[in-house]
Amino acid sequence: MPRKSRSYPNIRVNGDYFRGGGWWSRQFSSHAQEVAAARYEKEVIDLLDQTLPQWATSLRLLWEIKRRAPRRVCISPYTVADAEKFGQVNAYETPTDGAASAPEGVVPYGGSPDDDETVRDERFDLAAYSGTGKGSNSYIHFTPALFRAAHKAADKELLHELVHALRDMEGHSNQVPTTGTILDYENVEEFLAVLVTNLYASERYGPLAQLRFGHGDDQLQGSLRTSAGFLLDANNLRTVRTLASQEADLFSSLAQIRTAPFNPIAEFWNHRTTKYN
Ligand SMILES: [Zn+2]
Repeated sequence: MPRKSRSYPNIRVNGDYFRGGGWWSRQFSSHAQEVAAARYEKEVIDLLDQTLPQWATSLRLLWEIKRRAPRRVCISPYTVADAEKFGQVNAYETPTDGAASAPEGVVPYGGSPDDDETVRDERFDLAAYSGTGKGSNSYIHFTPALFRAAHKAADKELLHELVHALRDMEGHSNQVPTTGTILDYENVEEFLAVLVTNLYASERYGPLAQLRFGHGDDQLQGSLRTSAGFLLDANNLRTVRTLASQEADLFSSLAQIRTAPFNPIAEFWNHRTTKYN
């Protein structure tokens, strides 16, 4: 039986992928399938109800998601087909209704990655529809065991995908390409997801936390690792300012967190009418 998070009932976890019908389940007995599905659901539910609420960053993000009901998030396993498309150790989030996930009256960017084989930058290709801003349901393909096996933190991956989910639920999602010093983030949706996950890492692991730069495996370096230093980069500041105007609820909430040494959201939000005016 698919399960609901106890604390965040508009987040559901469905392990049916392991239960029958698909490639995975054909390899195993029905008992082994049920065990795998139930274990999967418990693992993800425990991340949502036990691990993530221990930290202010993730707790506050979950509160925002909860407030977006009746919009909901469904989390199910990262499939064999996903792995062929996006790599063995990965996760992804997507809205159930692209137009509803995008701002009203805006033709959003299509979200294609830049193809190195072509001269043009496919990130600038537009979607074939205009946004309605109504907000969409979201689904996430994510399997904690995959990250564990690769010695990566599953909680950070889930949090990252939940940031994408919130934007879709709000009808705020638009994968506007990033350029210049922030090219490596690919687009502003990744910029926000990486930024919030860096706050979480900083809160959880302190001043020595590994902080990500861009959408790949690079690390944030030097002066960019401080809240004010991060905003000295003009592209960072401009993007944070734009996101703050769209995400007042999330930003005002995350700005209250004092336990993360790296919190450019607090730095910006708490000085937005003075230093960053
Ligand atoms: Zn992402």
